[in-house]
Amino acid sequence: MNKYLKELVELSTIDKGLDSFTPQIDNAQNRVSKEKDKVDSVQSRIDTLQKQIDESKDKIVSYEEQIGSLSKQLKDIQKKGKEISTEREMKALSIEEEIAKEKLSFANEEIERLNRVIETKTALIEEAKEELKALEEVFETVKSDANQELQAIEKEKETLYKARENKIHKMDQKILSFYEKIRKWAGNTGVVPVRKQACYGCYLKINDKTYSDLIRGEEIVTCPHCGRILYIEETGEDLEA
Ligand SMILES: [Zn+2]
Repeated sequence: MNKYLKELVELSTIDKGLDSFTPQIDNAQNRVSKEKDKVDSVQSRIDTLQKQIDESKDKIVSYEEQIGSLSKQLKDIQKKGKEISTEREMKALSIEEEIAKEKLSFANEEIERLNRVIETKTALIEEAKEELKALEEVFETVKSDANQELQAIEKEKETLYKARENKIHKMDQKILSFYEKIRKWAGNTGVVPVRKQACYGCYLKINDKTYSDLIRGEEIVTCPHCGRILYIEETGEDLEA
């Protein structure tokens, strides 16, 4: 195989290797973010419950204030009751008293109800906290596994990057920029083998002239249909040799 072509095949193999890490990296990151979502979802459930508890507590405080002023009002009514003489005044006062007592008992009932709400939600928070703890443990394990995996990938990538740097340094710059131009649209399939006289980029049969040029191997040959750089695999021969 032509020296330039051989370099292009090797460079394209390195680039393929570099890109092949992307799905692995995505996969590792997805695994971590999936566990993180679970943790966040339980944490947000706890936050909502806590907010509801706080709101109930605020309501209790305001009902307690109401009870305080209603008690004072009832005392005043009792005091007034001793001073009035007409039946009409008496009736008005007794209505006032009844309303105050109703409000008082409503406030007491609400406090009781809100306390039950707080109790239930506190229990739910306790449960959720247990769940959160378990999920956080899983998250930490998955994260640390993923980090290890990502570090290993980073190392492999670095090795390949170095190999790539070495290679392009030695390569003919015109051929390199030709390759980069094709890579822009063809991605990892910029350099493809020809099998059974067909381009393995676009899978179309190449004409006899192109095929014989390729076999002669004197220059870089591109596919007449798609423009990818073509090569014939040297079966049994190690490309790295
Ligand atoms: Zn083609």
